[in-house]
Amino acid sequence: MKQFSKILVANRGEIAIRICRACTELGIRTVAIYTEEDKLSLHRYKADEAYQIGEGKGPVEAYLDVDSIIEVALRTECDAIHPGYGFLSESEALARACERAGITFIGPRPEHLDMFGDKVSARKVAMEAQIPVVPGSDGPVNLNQAREFAARIGYPVILKAVSGGGGRGMRVVHHEAELAEAFNRASSEAQASFGSAGVYVEKYIDSPKHIEVQILGDTHGNLVHLFERDCSIQRRHQKVVEIAPALIAPALREKICSTAVQLMKHAGYVNAGTVEFLLAKNGEFYFIEVNPRVQVEHTITELITGIDIVQAQIRVAEGYPLGSEEIGISTQDDVHMHGYAIQCRVTTEDPENGFLPDTGRIITYRSAAGFGIRLDTGNGFTGARVLPYYDSLLVKVSAFGLTFQKAANKMARALQEFRIRGVKTNIPFLSNVIHHPVFLSGQCDVSFIDNHEELFR
Ligand code: ADP
Repeated sequence: MKQFSKILVANRGEIAIRICRACTELGIRTVAIYTEEDKLSLHRYKADEAYQIGEGKGPVEAYLDVDSIIEVALRTECDAIHPGYGFLSESEALARACERAGITFIGPRPEHLDMFGDKVSARKVAMEAQIPVVPGSDGPVNLNQAREFAARIGYPVILKAVSGGGGRGMRVVHHEAELAEAFNRASSEAQASFGSAGVYVEKYIDSPKHIEVQILGDTHGNLVHLFERDCSIQRRHQKVVEIAPALIAPALREKICSTAVQLMKHAGYVNAGTVEFLLAKNGEFYFIEVNPRVQVEHTITELITGIDIVQAQIRVAEGYPLGSEEIGISTQDDVHMHGYAIQCRVTTEDPENGFLPDTGRIITYRSAAGFGIRLDTGNGFTGARVLPYYDSLLVKVSAFGLTFQKAANKMARALQEFRIRGVKTNIPFLSNVIHHPVFLSGQCDVSFIDNHEELFR
């Protein structure tokens, strides 16, 4: 077993702070990196040491610069790098550069990043593991192949960027007449966002639920699930509110979670990862993708299981088996869940203005608090500057209650307590979601936001 004494956190904002906290509790020192633009950002002050990187490179590019990050890690004698989510978290190049430099990458093996970084190859692995996938093309298609495939399988279909993520590079097509334009848009968006124009086609499932399973595997071949999350509440295919566990029958939960374990065992997966499924109205579920990293919404799984996922990632990377005292999961039966947790992503977006990101100085910031409320934020404080270069996540609010209704009441109360001035936020919109009868019935599917205009008022 290795014992890390110092970890470089290759990220910014709330997740960088989340990782620093996990390290500090474990007695591991932390190194932050920050850009010129981020020199006043809180994450740099939450680490034991902080270094500016990427001078003249640009605010985002600097966080993607593998060579400089490795250079800082070597210079500061770090044992490991935690990439968080976004930026380099799924970068095979970073994982391999770490290997060459003798630094541990806190995440899966490079081959898993390769396997799951591309949705077409992920589907192949799922099919090999005998997991149901959404009917789709075998690989990237050109416009003619897309047309043939859609005619065979029937409209509606969804076009997806092979290397896509974050809801970008996706287009739903209802009729053949819309196909050509949608194809061109999807592939140019794919090229612009992911540097590869490859697009494939899937059958568009009518108003499914998005159910995902949290997985944790060690380097000794042990692998468990930490139950599931319902992430159906989405805007433009991006998650807005997440729930753990999903409000589904125990037998279905068992089937979905064991299917996820089957896939990840087949892949020999190591560390934390998430298997995403669409659950159709008829109860059938289909694999869509694997996210080989910690996710934004890991917090709610932590609340219902009591397992610190980031610390587990670190221990697994040090070589501890899941059953060791450090992690404490000898078998699946050691993972328990209790109660319900809901997470809202509070963003600096203006719901009255098409969710346009707002930027500027926060002049008042008074948070919610109290029993059952967890807050994860990067720049949620009076005087903070919300920068235009980075994503608009301001604070993740997670609420825990023994029943779903109690968790929802707590979330409603927490949202009401916030006072944020100087930048617009989506809190009024989130509050409408939490009070909505369809939300409270647990019946939301991915079309919930689109089908309820009253949420925007
Ligand atoms: P990304 O990696 O960009 O997040 P995903 O493949 O995870 O993309 O899909 C994101 C969301 O898009 C899903 O949760 C779902 O709402 C919608 N979606 C994706 N594929 C389909 C499909 N085949 N049918 C219906 N909706 C889909």
